[in-house]
Amino acid sequence: MAVHRCRFRRACAILPPEILRRIATRGSRTQRDAALATLATDQTLRLSRATHQLLERAPRRPPLAMPEIAKQRTIYDANHRETLPGRAVRDEGSRAGKDVEVNEAYDGLGATFDFFAIVHDRNSIDDAGMHLDATVHFGRKYDNAFWNGRQMVFGDGDGDLFNRFTISLDVIGHELAHGVTGDEAKLVYLGQAGALNESISDVFGVLVKQYALGQTAAEADWLIGAGLFTSKVNGAALRSMKAPGTAFDDPVLGRDTQPSTMSGYVHTTMDNGGVHTNSGIPNHAFYLAAIALGGHAWEKAGRIWYETLRDRRLRPTSTFRQFAVLTGQHAAQLFGPLERQAVAAAWKEVGIDVGSDAGKAGAKGTGNGRGSGRGSGRGTGLRDGAGDDF
Ligand SMILES: [Zn+2]
Repeated sequence: MAVHRCRFRRACAILPPEILRRIATRGSRTQRDAALATLATDQTLRLSRATHQLLERAPRRPPLAMPEIAKQRTIYDANHRETLPGRAVRDEGSRAGKDVEVNEAYDGLGATFDFFAIVHDRNSIDDAGMHLDATVHFGRKYDNAFWNGRQMVFGDGDGDLFNRFTISLDVIGHELAHGVTGDEAKLVYLGQAGALNESISDVFGVLVKQYALGQTAAEADWLIGAGLFTSKVNGAALRSMKAPGTAFDDPVLGRDTQPSTMSGYVHTTMDNGGVHTNSGIPNHAFYLAAIALGGHAWEKAGRIWYETLRDRRLRPTSTFRQFAVLTGQHAAQLFGPLERQAVAAAWKEVGIDVGSDAGKAGAKGTGNGRGSGRGSGRGTGLRDGAGDDF
């Protein structure tokens, strides 16, 4: 088995704790038990993440040779325990078996890998050929899915409010994109930077799905987590990038509280400053930009967002506005003034006016400065003076 790379120790779960807390107070006894058990596990994972982040500050060494782009997946079965990774049940290239979750996890990891490899010439999550592992059947009735920095983990759901968490390809793409963000911009999981971190995962999550389905921006549903809810829940999905705040409205789960513009920005101490809530604002900006640019969202809007994510001027504590300015600059560099205008208009519609800043392509040093080759030994340092003036 391949040696794990353990740099991204981050347990980023798809379900925010607020939804689970609401179920714990409003749900039936069995719904409440599953939600409380999931919350307890998630809390342990968060503590583990924080500890590992303190311990892992070593700079990254460049690989000795540029690895080939090749998928390497292994799916494990936790057999309803919470011990990772569990028993290996499917390796790269082996045939599908009868276990739906094993097959969905295998295919979802593959679709995400293919998207980043083909569209962005990225060699796995770390751009250095990281082995992709996933564990299914984690815990009993575990109502979540997460990326722990080394692998994906999927619960079966309680079967009452939630279906299996392998069901949504965009959820798998979302979680793996946390690994990409952890490798590139390292956006802290707090406040606006945390909401950007969440939004970038939603952006690449939906793009993985749209790419797999061959959908244009106009054809796509722009939902995150469609299929996760059972028919008991009044809701289409966890989030909607097209219409934030409308994804669900349910007596037990509560309602979707995502704002779509800055006027609805939620100031809270919950959920690391509302990272799963305020992500609705940059999510909607991406949706508006993708619709305005037309065609397949990954071809223009997705590339602009990806190059922004890789831009060294994007700091771990960057704000929405700083991110928005960089998207405008990358739109201009990659495509031209019309695309820059479309991106600036999208941000303006969500209440972030980047004005002429977004047009300053090249004014403060163009390009992302990260080298174009795979495994180019990108460091973590930011360039001198960059990023202070937007
Ligand atoms: Zn997330």
